[in-house]
Amino acid sequence: MRLFKLLIFLAHWGVTRAEPGKFWHISDLHLDPDYKVSEDPLQVCPSAGSQPVPNAGPWGDYLCDSPWVLINSSIYAMKEIEPKPDFILWTGDDTPHVPNERLGEAAVLAIVDRLTRLIREVFPGAFYAEKLPGLSGAGRVVVLNTNLYYGNNEQTAGMADPARQFQWLEDVLTNASRAKEMVYIIGHVPPGFFEKTRNKAWFREGFNEEYLKVVRKHHHVIAGQFFGHHHTDSFRMFYDDTGAPISVMFLTPGVTPWKTTLPGVVNGANNPGIRVFEYDRATLSLQDMVTYFVNLSQANEKGIPLWELEYRLTEAYGVPDAGSRSMHAALGRIASDPGTLQRYYVYNSVSYDREACDPACSAEHVCAMREVAFDAYAACLRAPGAAPAPRLALLLAALLGLRALLAP
Ligand SMILES: [Zn+2]
Repeated sequence: MRLFKLLIFLAHWGVTRAEPGKFWHISDLHLDPDYKVSEDPLQVCPSAGSQPVPNAGPWGDYLCDSPWVLINSSIYAMKEIEPKPDFILWTGDDTPHVPNERLGEAAVLAIVDRLTRLIREVFPGAFYAEKLPGLSGAGRVVVLNTNLYYGNNEQTAGMADPARQFQWLEDVLTNASRAKEMVYIIGHVPPGFFEKTRNKAWFREGFNEEYLKVVRKHHHVIAGQFFGHHHTDSFRMFYDDTGAPISVMFLTPGVTPWKTTLPGVVNGANNPGIRVFEYDRATLSLQDMVTYFVNLSQANEKGIPLWELEYRLTEAYGVPDAGSRSMHAALGRIASDPGTLQRYYVYNSVSYDREACDPACSAEHVCAMREVAFDAYAACLRAPGAAPAPRLALLLAALLGLRALLAP
């Protein structure tokens, strides 16, 4: 049993400070409690499976999930970089990639407890709550239980709206609209099936149709969508019927460097990444997104993890903010300018994979960002100038989450 946890951790500082507000988004910490630097390459970490891990370093390895010291250093880096966020979004996936029989419920709960205690210790004053009181009445955070849309979940197979969650979401958004509030939607797995290509252009086989309908209908109250799961850094655009950009989903990279063992994915590791959003407290509109990372091989060489700025979104893509129009413009640059495409591609793996993104790679990434419905994605890949569809590897992913309506 592998449980994917979805948690929201909120810090409240009670006072209105100068704009912009800031919040952290972290995801996919994947603690491997048994990671150790061993001379025996088969004894380094259970999360590497049967792969040998030669020359493992103290701060972790690209073949393994996170050792405790890496996670510890990521949380303290957050404290160093932005010690007083309005809140922290923590979108889960805490446990190591190991066979089910190695990970019982007690082990999962122990890991979640250990991580929660660390974050509370580093961000004291903070509390764990369902309320989000720091936004002066302007907003809500809606947490989706995306386990319901897991492809292997036989209990919900074939159901258009399992547990009537989208109906609930629709009610929440309708009420928010009436109350003139804006909403952030967060979750672990973006609603739908997921697959991954050779070029790590994670895309969705089809966002749940009901979810798409709700987003299209209520986009004017959705100030942002924040998900994890892919371990890589990307975003997804939502358009209305006229082709105008109406919403963006930001996919945050993982803290774990773990190289996926999915068949068909070449070199699917990443550097550990954490990110902070800057937003307008009155409207929740997103002003910027700043990603920090640690170069894991350098950390092991130097014996110390150096968390540094990877990029600031507005500078990297030459856009004024992180709203849907700006992200549409950013996507246009990624699609048309080879330099911007390459920059995006390096950021996608948190500056781990610096290979050139060739035309097939480009088509996969651009189509994945632009087309959130599978048929449209497939058509995009077949379009003139796009590469032929690659062979796909199915990602089986689950999420055990909690959902909560967090009202100010
Ligand atoms: Zn994960």
